Amino acid sequence: MQRRKFIKDALTGFRGIVLAESLLVSACKKEGIGKPNGKKVIVVGAGISGLAAAKKLNQNGFNVVVLESQNKVGGRLKTDRTLGVAFDEGASWIHGIRGNPITDLAQQAGMSTAVTDDDSVLSYDVGGVLRSDAVLSQAEEQLYTILATMMKSGNATQSFETVFRNLYPTKANDRLWKFLLSTYVTFDTGDLNNLSSLLYNEGEEFGGKESISTSGYDSIPHYLGKGLTIQLNQRVTKIDYTSTNVKVEHNGTISEADHVLVTVPLGVLKNNVVQFIPTLPAAKQNAIQKVGMNCVNKFLLTWKTAFWDDVQYISYTPEIRDKFNYFLNVRKFQPTANALMTFAYADYARQTETMTDVQIINQIMEHLKDIYGTSIPAPTAMLRTKWQTNENCFGAYSYTAVGTEMRHFDDLAEAINDKLFFAGEHTESEYFSTVHGAYLSGMREADKIIALR
Ligand SMILES: Cc1cc2nc3c(=O)[nH]c(=O)nc-3n(C[C@H](O)[C@H](O)[C@H](O)COP(=O)(O)OP(=O)(O)OC[C@H]3O[C@@H](n4cnc5c(N)ncnc54)[C@H](O)[C@@H]3O)c2cc1C
Repeated sequence: MQRRKFIKDALTGFRGIVLAESLLVSACKKEGIGKPNGKKVIVVGAGISGLAAAKKLNQNGFNVVVLESQNKVGGRLKTDRTLGVAFDEGASWIHGIRGNPITDLAQQAGMSTAVTDDDSVLSYDVGGVLRSDAVLSQAEEQLYTILATMMKSGNATQSFETVFRNLYPTKANDRLWKFLLSTYVTFDTGDLNNLSSLLYNEGEEFGGKESISTSGYDSIPHYLGKGLTIQLNQRVTKIDYTSTNVKVEHNGTISEADHVLVTVPLGVLKNNVVQFIPTLPAAKQNAIQKVGMNCVNKFLLTWKTAFWDDVQYISYTPEIRDKFNYFLNVRKFQPTANALMTFAYADYARQTETMTDVQIINQIMEHLKDIYGTSIPAPTAMLRTKWQTNENCFGAYSYTAVGTEMRHFDDLAEAINDKLFFAGEHTESEYFSTVHGAYLSGMREADKIIALR
């Protein structure tokens, strides 16, 4: 049910742990506050990658300024508490708590978490028909087997969807399979019709259970940002790295630094929001185009009282594949909250961004009424995200699209002339698309800059 973990546990066991821990050791070296070294670094973006780098550079004596386009830190770690529930608009889970740097960071930041349990689920078909555990488990087992082998039939030009449809035409049209593909593959990666049929399973995994934030993920960026110089509401539009000093244009002002670390999301790079002078090397421009940026939207609905099952997840299998097909019972994690969180993925997620709140609520309620009956009460409120049209992101996270090669993530990370550096989830070939990937990328780039002293 949770991103990446579902597939990875089945296919690879815990092969990520060793790698992950060695990465962690290098990430944690060189801690400690250093004397000012006379070097200035501008970090563009106050998401977790930018803040992790800024903190480490600060501790090593660099004069660091973070420029952030929004009026808050955290980027895709964003919590809305206006309804009395901690609604995480971006990341919710720590994927694999063992050896994961976010586990410790969450503790240090005072973020409470709860372990999630994939077996605490009920699966409903259209008409409110409850599936047996056996039917669900058997289909899941088959999915594991297919995902373990399907890349052998994959190729560089065809999408996951094309290859899957050719191999399993009946499954492709089956409601339960649509649900499995949507929630276990699309949520973890990206649009099936553009997902690489060779690389759909790339990326390493931490071991251990999954946990979910219960108090709000934004406490991590707030913790990392303490004591840093962060200028909010500063949109960077131009970076000129022709001279010794790099010049950064933001809100009509030009700031200069010895090094600049760019952590804006891949969607922002794809949309050419920042002009680079000279233009970025061809390999990086190519990688910006080739790596995919998906869309996931989240919806939180509240009621006066709960009418739904007392399990962690309620799944529903409509004909339309990526449409509000699973509900997280927020009450299991925040006991005073009578709330459900549901999701839309890929093109359906993008489509929701053109819909009114009333349209969205009606569609979600159609699914819930089909499960629980037409007399269920109307929700008292709804919160929603619009990640695709969000000008600070233009999508949710990166994925291996048709045409992506794993080296493209390294090309995205490649520094230029020891002056311009790049971090962010999309620059981590092993842990892209995750909070820990973003964090590790920031630590990695801070290390590179520190090594130049
Ligand atoms: C819906 C959703 C669900 C997710 N679920 C999970 C999950 O459960 N677990 C998990 O591990 N990961 C999850 N992720 C992924 C995770 O949130 C991201 O990988 C991670 O937070 C990215 O951090 P970052 O620092 O790379 O980028 P960001 O957090 O996006 O930070 C980049 C910053 O740059 C700023 N910026 C953009 N343009 C400019 C500009 N021109 N000038 C200045 N600043 C600019 C942005 O405002 C932002 O603050 C999810 C993401 C989404 C959207």
